[in-house]
Amino acid sequence: MGSVIDLIEAVAEPLVDAFRRPITYLRVSVTDRCNLRCVYCMPEAGLPWIPKPEILSYEEIATIVRAAAGIGVRSIRLTGGEPLIRRDLERLVALIAAIPGIDDIALSTNGLLLADLAPRLAAAGLRRVNVSLDTLHDDRFTAIARRSGLARVLAGIDAAIENGLGPVKINCVVMRGANDDELEAFAQMTRERPVHIRFIEVMPVTDNVDLQRDAWVSSDEVLARLGALGDLHSVPNPHGNGPARTFAYDGVPGTVGVISPLAHDYCETCNRVRLSADGRLKLCLFGDHLIDLRTPLRAGGGEAAITELFRASMHVKPERHFLELGQTASAMRAFSEIGG
Ligand code: SAM
Ligand code: SF4
Repeated sequence: MGSVIDLIEAVAEPLVDAFRRPITYLRVSVTDRCNLRCVYCMPEAGLPWIPKPEILSYEEIATIVRAAAGIGVRSIRLTGGEPLIRRDLERLVALIAAIPGIDDIALSTNGLLLADLAPRLAAAGLRRVNVSLDTLHDDRFTAIARRSGLARVLAGIDAAIENGLGPVKINCVVMRGANDDELEAFAQMTRERPVHIRFIEVMPVTDNVDLQRDAWVSSDEVLARLGALGDLHSVPNPHGNGPARTFAYDGVPGTVGVISPLAHDYCETCNRVRLSADGRLKLCLFGDHLIDLRTPLRAGGGEAAITELFRASMHVKPERHFLELGQTASAMRAFSEIGG
């Protein structure tokens, strides 16, 4: 039997999965609901939402984050659904900001409510935001998001910059025939403002396979077109855990990048796990690798039980996803999220 010191050291050992990837990043979905219905993400009628009692409270999320921080998780991203529709999100931000070991709290949002909330979120300890924006045209926004709101999203991006929530990254899902003629306009934004545009290949989810087959534009094509606009040089990813390949034009304040979720180099450097709004640890973006944390937590298991489950989950995390273009990932539905 080991000494108490051995035991403490063993408990504090950082989380590393079966493929020797250190896990330092936890993405927390605070709700599965959303105030938009982006064509590539959700059906127009919405989803069978998780019943409210099954959604983790802020205190429950904080307990899970504390356990994760104790074994090496350093970065938290709040996401959804749309995280800003959950009431008083700044209270959760403040709870997480107070946890020793957590040195980065980021948020992924569609930006609709960001202009109002940015000051409060920044004051509570939020560091930075990623805002989704697929088009700069009002009518296209309404067609893609199936709700209006472009002006509010643009105001949200301004507010994020003004409140120091940078580097502000903009996630743009590229779809042929829908917005692929706007690459140049987005690239132009990086010449004018400190924004970091990441062009994302559309990924398969159950309801969008047709869209995905027809609309998919490869990152290579995007990069070739961006390269034709001027001298692009490779730069480090501006603060983050993301799998983006990032570039900049000479002497400009922003960057452009691409994310190819189906490429396996995305998996090789995977440092993340996800927590669903109803308390399941999701080990891979695609697939059914889920571990229920809510039941043991509500049974009084506390931080120690969660720590054990995090460790056990490392044997469940797959080496890579097995999806190819044109397949579906049914398990991904309500938890779909990338974008980092
Ligand atoms: N509602 C927030 C937002 O839109 O940023 C956070 C959640 S959303 C699911 C996170 C990111 O996933 C967004 O940038 C969105 O564009 C991206 N996303 C959702 N479905 C996708 C898909 N099928 N293919 C590629 N990206 C997708
Ligand atoms: Fe909502 Fe984000 Fe999905 Fe769009 S991508 S429907 S904003 S969760």
